[in-house]
Amino acid sequence: MAHDGPEDHASQLSCIVCMGRLGAAHLPGLMSCLECGFITTDLKLSDEDLKRLYGRDYFHGQEYLDYTAEAESLKLNFQRRIAVLRQLAPDFQAAELFEIGCAYGYFLQVVVPYVKVASGIDISADAVRKAVAEQQTDAREGDYLAFDLKRPVDCITMWDTIEHLRRPDLFIGKAAKDLKPGGLLAITTGDIGSLNARLRGKSWRMIHPPTHLHYFSASTLKRLLERQGFDVVHLSHPGNSRKLRSVLYFISVLKANRPAIYNTLQRLPLFDLSLTANLFDIMYVVGRKRGAIPDGTGA
Ligand SMILES: [Zn+2]
Repeated sequence: MAHDGPEDHASQLSCIVCMGRLGAAHLPGLMSCLECGFITTDLKLSDEDLKRLYGRDYFHGQEYLDYTAEAESLKLNFQRRIAVLRQLAPDFQAAELFEIGCAYGYFLQVVVPYVKVASGIDISADAVRKAVAEQQTDAREGDYLAFDLKRPVDCITMWDTIEHLRRPDLFIGKAAKDLKPGGLLAITTGDIGSLNARLRGKSWRMIHPPTHLHYFSASTLKRLLERQGFDVVHLSHPGNSRKLRSVLYFISVLKANRPAIYNTLQRLPLFDLSLTANLFDIMYVVGRKRGAIPDGTGA
């Protein structure tokens, strides 16, 4: 499956959601579509730039501060997302699932018992190595746009991934081709239309180029999905659950550098409590692919 070459260049000037014209946004350094309001950056990153960004340091840097230590919390949130997918697809246990941006393989590991087959892809070689070796998942390193899935699947997931992509529209377009009719595309990303994002303005925690290149709202993401042949069948702002353990670890060890406090607190029975913080600024959107089986000639 080839890239749409010429479109790559046109996108720099036009909105990936509606093809409208881009102008300066009300937020410094960002662009906004004059037609649909989609917020994006005008960064032009090469494949090499992106590969460098998502090397080993990415998952251990500021953004994913101890991502692996967060595994327990991540898995808790994945369980909730799976519950939604099972409601939307009653035959979920017979589903073939593919994850774009599978990172360390935590989601794949959690979802395996619920589906027939689960596999994934990620641009980070370091993460994929661990996904295979430590989580025993079917993960591969690579660029999804250049990856041949061989046969259509029932469900594709992109957790906190779409904001990192240079061309989310191409990914969603390819996902549409890689899904069976009626198949589900599940996405989580920040919602720049949320109250918290609007109150925080340029200080909103999700705004950090160059890793976050695009800032969807519920309406711009819905519009992009509909243009690519999906009906939005689920939209929620699920919040983030964490074990009290990881919250205290974060505060006492990573922030205050006081592991002794953490070790003392660890003896408390409350430690396994799970807390849900919800700023209602992260959205969970599921699109269902419309229509008849594509003839393979593409759009
Ligand atoms: Zn637009």
